[in-house]
Amino acid sequence: MRQIALYGKGGIGKSTTSANLSAAWADKGLDVLQIGCDPKHDSTRMLMHGRVIPTVLDLLREQKHDLIVSDVIYTGYSGVRCVEAGGPEPGIGCAGRGIIATFQLLEKLGALRGDLIVYDVLGDVVCGGFAMPMREGYAKEVYLVTSGELMSLYAANNIAKAISRLSANKRSQVRLAGVIGNGKNIECEEELVSEFADAIGSQMVAFIPRSKTVTQAELNKKTVIDYAPASSQAEVYRSCADTILLNTEFSIPTPLSIDDLESLAYRYLKE
Ligand code: ATP
Ligand code: MG
Repeated sequence: MRQIALYGKGGIGKSTTSANLSAAWADKGLDVLQIGCDPKHDSTRMLMHGRVIPTVLDLLREQKHDLIVSDVIYTGYSGVRCVEAGGPEPGIGCAGRGIIATFQLLEKLGALRGDLIVYDVLGDVVCGGFAMPMREGYAKEVYLVTSGELMSLYAANNIAKAISRLSANKRSQVRLAGVIGNGKNIECEEELVSEFADAIGSQMVAFIPRSKTVTQAELNKKTVIDYAPASSQAEVYRSCADTILLNTEFSIPTPLSIDDLESLAYRYLKE
């Protein structure tokens, strides 16, 4: 069983990318569990055709009866099993709580199984809760989603720092498995993200261009794989999904100093 997490700056495209990868894997006949680890609970919406599923934290709060698998796992596009951890209202409590409670419950129910588990995680590693999927050994392969924008590269570099810190613990199995470029239409962006990936001791596994098809699919409450399977954008997601399936290059990253990161970006972004 592969346990994959997508981390990256807020709004960078983690949920869109996760959902399209899950859809592509499911179309190949693989058993996929996607777990949204964000209090916004919008990770699986496109897989569920717009349906907002109950979050584990809300269900635990209500606790009308002993929860069973069908209370927390919902079947979406092509059989992808969908879970939303949920979290507290903005500004109240720790968002990590939802994630911890969700994993404990799924483990108790024997539901952490399948060919692939995909964790769609908040990227700004501000509290232990966000690092939790990798810290507790659930997520073993981390993919960093980033554009060529400096703030997005900063966030990716910070997550690389967290992975490198966590892997100092010999029991930890978390590794950086690659960088997924998600384009923002910046010149030479693919080259920049690829060089960043090499510089932190990893590799760029895919570069996903900015595309109107993503927006159109979203407006139709579907993933691109579902809404426009013949589009070039769907092909990009399928090819990324294939590359990840074949990927065996997992590393302990070598994050950059702020100076090195800025001078790398400066070479590409100065014009
Ligand atoms: P958050 O951190 O808030 O959870 P996120 O990283 O999960 O955000 P998404 O919700 O996946 O980001 O994407 C943010 C917006 O960017 C969405 O409206 C999505 O449709 C759009 N988007 C993502 N990737 C692409 C792309 N390659 N082309 C066009 N639009 C995209
Ligand atoms: Mg998201």
